[in-house]
Amino acid sequence: MKIAIMGAMIEEIEPILSKLDHHPENSELDYILSNLKNIKLHYIADNRFFEAKYKGIDVIVAYSKIGKVFASLTASVLIEHFGAEKLLFSGVAGAIREDLKIGDLVAATKLCQHDLDITAFGHPYGYVPEGKIYIQSDPELLALAKDVARRKGIELKEAVIATGDQFIADPERKEWIKNSFGADAIEMEGAAVAVVCDAFDVPFFILRAISDAADMDAGFDFDTFLKSSSKRSADFVMSMLDRMV
Ligand code: SAH
Repeated sequence: MKIAIMGAMIEEIEPILSKLDHHPENSELDYILSNLKNIKLHYIADNRFFEAKYKGIDVIVAYSKIGKVFASLTASVLIEHFGAEKLLFSGVAGAIREDLKIGDLVAATKLCQHDLDITAFGHPYGYVPEGKIYIQSDPELLALAKDVARRKGIELKEAVIATGDQFIADPERKEWIKNSFGADAIEMEGAAVAVVCDAFDVPFFILRAISDAADMDAGFDFDTFLKSSSKRSADFVMSMLDRMV
């Protein structure tokens, strides 16, 4: 079994890389050395891919860089070049739904592209011919996530995620996305990864921890909470991985 773990930014995957091949009995130095020894670095398509083993399973980790194009490229390489059989995405997102607060964990139930617009031809927002407005997440990975959350006593909320090549820090745009797509959270990569995984028939799971409320304070909140929210999301994804070994 080969599992891909993906983020968009280095901050999102750092907490994952630091856990690969970690043996609790090792000292900090041993731990760093063992990481260097056991993580194989690949350079493909102007990006870095970290290949490692985690408790006996093959794991391939990468951060794509921000946005739908880089995310699609990275997901495609993870699947086509490395043969990833499942893909877990970990990162941060802006909240749309009122009850979502900074630090909350959200699992995507389905994802859409809020900036995809050929409505001039009578198509709905988020749709192109032969595509779908929403891509559904894999039900088994979603069920596993819920079970992990329940057993660990962690609150995991389900969310419709809207993706687009825009950092949303604008209450009007946020409201429009909410009303147009029934979206609960917003980010810049999830739906792109979903489209790629759906096309290659690879089960995927998109997890996000809230970093901001996509409002006027979003830029400031994002910078403040990027690290802590990234870590929350990464820790949860590692707990899922623990159940997959
Ligand atoms: N501060 C970064 C840019 C971050 S862009 C820099 O200067 O390089 C925001 C990233 O976090 C994207 O990867 C996106 O997926 C996610 N994100 C978090 N909050 C978001 C919001 N309000 N709107 C869109 N994406 C958001």
